[in-house]
Amino acid sequence: MSTSLDQTWGSDAGTALPVAIEVLRRGPISRAEIGRRLGLSHASLSRLSAPLIERGVIHDVGEHSNGRVGRPSRLLDVDASSHHFLGIKIRETEIIAAVTDLRGEVVDSVSVPLDDRNPTAVVAQVKDLHRAFAAAHTITAVGIGIGGAVHERRTIISAGFLGWDNVALSDLIEQETQTPTLVENDVVALCEYEDWFGFASNDERFAVITLGIGTGFGLVINGQPIVGDDYGFGLVGHWPMDPTGPLCQQGHRGCAAALLNSDAIARYATEALGRDTTFDETIQLAADGDPAASRIIHDAARGVGVLIAAVCNLTLPDRIIIAGEGVRLAVVGHDTLVEKTRELRDPRAHTPPINYSSGDNVEWARGAAVLAIQAFALGSLAPVH
Ligand SMILES: [Zn+2]
Repeated sequence: MSTSLDQTWGSDAGTALPVAIEVLRRGPISRAEIGRRLGLSHASLSRLSAPLIERGVIHDVGEHSNGRVGRPSRLLDVDASSHHFLGIKIRETEIIAAVTDLRGEVVDSVSVPLDDRNPTAVVAQVKDLHRAFAAAHTITAVGIGIGGAVHERRTIISAGFLGWDNVALSDLIEQETQTPTLVENDVVALCEYEDWFGFASNDERFAVITLGIGTGFGLVINGQPIVGDDYGFGLVGHWPMDPTGPLCQQGHRGCAAALLNSDAIARYATEALGRDTTFDETIQLAADGDPAASRIIHDAARGVGVLIAAVCNLTLPDRIIIAGEGVRLAVVGHDTLVEKTRELRDPRAHTPPINYSSGDNVEWARGAAVLAIQAFALGSLAPVH
């Protein structure tokens, strides 16, 4: 049944594509709900969905009654296990890889040390990961997330942490794997995940803040991440937060790097406690009430509050999502960051809901996989020659 899907998703789906995408993103979903979301009459939806059902792109999965009098609405869904995608996040010292289904659910994952930052060596490692996963899953497409500036989801303009400039990473990986490959800034990839399948799938406008080795920011409006040629240069990484705070390596006082970066926090805790202390230990000590660790974490949480207030005041998001491997900093400091956010906003302004991701490393790889899922579903995967 699934053999025809590659043609029916995307190019061949034509005007029915929005229906297929809604079912992919939200299924199982009632026909009534799809019609409401897309502004389609019952008749139009029936006309558009019939060929999709015929070709096996979507299918009926029973009925849903809302408990009121009237005809129950039939539910539609996709077979999420019909296709698999490989998402890869390249970090300074490791590569995280995850295989997901058509809905971005992780079915397999691995993390391996990054042996060598030379592009040829990294491509060879990606090729090995692809080969290993392809033995168990048919990989439809590959998505790569990287902390840097990326052009048209194919070429790395700049990735400072790897020392890369102008690396045609999609081409290189496609040559080695014969699998369509997309590359994007890692925070943009996370935004795409949240938009299609995550916390923000019902929001018109939302912001993602990532915490960890650096601070990242993404804004999505009506399904479009707001990006430009300068996105990916870490523009929010030195956002001013505390005029009395510590200095970052570039000499800014109390910027995001000085207050929030995981290595800076580990350094402050090591100094304050007089013993080697990691970022994760510092968070745990703060959660357990250690006064020195709490001071460090709550100073940082106030910094996150400054950033959230700026984001809310300037972009009016419906939701804030905090993600990244350092997310627990914000979870433990939640009350502090909300208090700081309120302090910097008009008292009449409400603070939008704040969601915390798990902080699990695999989330970065899952975000990367969504790039591939979207391109597949939208019919924009280019064949590999
Ligand atoms: Zn700085």
